[in-house]
Amino acid sequence: MIEQYSRAYWEERLAGLSLARGHFIDGRTQPAVSGRTFTRTRPMDGQPGAVLARGDAADVDRAVASARKAFASGAWRGRDPLEKKRIMLRWAELIRAHGEELALLETLDVGKPVQASLGVDVRLCAEGIQYYGEMIDKMYDEIAPTGPKARALVRKVPLGVVAAITPWNYPMIIDAWKLGPAIAAGNCVVLKPAEQSSLSALRLAELAVEAGLPAGVFNVVTGFGEEVGKPLALHADVDMVAFTGSTEVGRLIMSYAARSNLKRVALELGGKSPLVVFADADLDAAASAAAWGCFYNSGETCHAATRLLVQRPVQDALIEKIEAVVKREIVLAHPFEPEAQIGALIEAEHMDKVLGLVAAGEADGGRRVFGAERVLSETGGCYVSPGVVTDVTNDMRIARQEIFGPVLAAIAFDTEEEALAIANDTIYGLAGAVFTRDMDRAHRFSEGIHAGTVWINTYDMSNFATPFGGFKQSGFGRDRSVHAIDKYCDYKTIWQQFG
Ligand code: NAP
Repeated sequence: MIEQYSRAYWEERLAGLSLARGHFIDGRTQPAVSGRTFTRTRPMDGQPGAVLARGDAADVDRAVASARKAFASGAWRGRDPLEKKRIMLRWAELIRAHGEELALLETLDVGKPVQASLGVDVRLCAEGIQYYGEMIDKMYDEIAPTGPKARALVRKVPLGVVAAITPWNYPMIIDAWKLGPAIAAGNCVVLKPAEQSSLSALRLAELAVEAGLPAGVFNVVTGFGEEVGKPLALHADVDMVAFTGSTEVGRLIMSYAARSNLKRVALELGGKSPLVVFADADLDAAASAAAWGCFYNSGETCHAATRLLVQRPVQDALIEKIEAVVKREIVLAHPFEPEAQIGALIEAEHMDKVLGLVAAGEADGGRRVFGAERVLSETGGCYVSPGVVTDVTNDMRIARQEIFGPVLAAIAFDTEEEALAIANDTIYGLAGAVFTRDMDRAHRFSEGIHAGTVWINTYDMSNFATPFGGFKQSGFGRDRSVHAIDKYCDYKTIWQQFG
């Protein structure tokens, strides 16, 4: 049960925080080699936020050297698995114990309601570290069936130095999706968080060392994509890049790997996920799933259900119900207000992009039914109300481009074949959903949607036991679940001949 705190409580906690931070390299906080800094603007009110080290290739070199030294020493990978497990579990406990502080840092950076940061982001971050910590003493190697004259051990070994490059929408959760399996497998990590959301990553690194993780196993370099992410992904002493972000930057990451040392790449990229509602569906359940599936986190969710495909006879009824859910449940407010369900978008530039795509949707023939406009502008923050644009066809820009804001594009269909064709007519393949009371159709349709996750009569159910990631240009490689470990390991075969 998460405690509900007042706005004054969070304001007071914020007043006690120092927000000037360096990189975290080799177990300690360090300024940028160049001495440069940059200041984050708070999305909730447009005021100056954290002052961070502005990294470049020199800082990346330092962090990679620290990670390489820690890997070579064997101080982490060579340790007793039980002890490694205890350290990871202690780390997860420290994350929980510092939950309010982490939630506050996350909200300052990204503008989501602090109660959500605490109840969802901190909780799932700690769960992620715990999940992979618990795996450490349960991973076995293999002996191949080679016959009596020889023995071949098939060992699963860590890769070495892993670069993690992460986005700003769920910083702590996505960091844990990379850090948990990469570190549990024995690797050392250099994390480059998004320039907008570094604070939680830096605190996670401090807590890791407090839990007992040796210096150099987990480093954080803050700064901009071109200045930190690029040299990191090009670095000749990095063995893998685990990236979450846009498809556009994912493409660059692959090219950096190809141009440098052919390091491995795992990509979790964008989406334009369809939520398909047939006329026989439970419309109340579908409306609730469509509203929360698109508007949660202000739509800044890679698998947000931003395309609503609805069978024509129930289109108007469904949209009315979605509007009723928004009015009844989805309170947009300053992120410190206890009743806030959604808060600010990440920054003014992004807000303009979201509103621009709404305008493009209207110019292309769509009709804005409600919301999807800037609100609370007097606060100086970046707030856009949840809204629906209807009369959309799948060739319009609002149906094709990732919006990453609280805006649902509604597309009407007549037949199941047409719905499946529209659902799959996208470069993305991250997620999708189907709502129908006909279970034969539900299963047929869920098999037909070409996406990494498909929900039947629900949206956004998830837990650590299930892999998450995309098909097509939503990327490759999977986060979460026991399978996530595989991409941070390699197989090594050791032969021995007898007699
Ligand atoms: P982004 O612009 O692609 O940035 C992601 C990360 O890459 C940031 O740390 C960014 O640094 C860095 N970066 C930018 N340019 C780079 C370059 N040339 N070389 C190396 N690194 C570079 O994405 P975003 O706007 O932060 O996040 C939103 C995107 O993430 C959406 O497309 C969303 O769908 C996707 N996403 C996917 C998943 C998933 O699991 N599939 C989950 C969450 C988000 P800067 O911050 O300095 O730009």
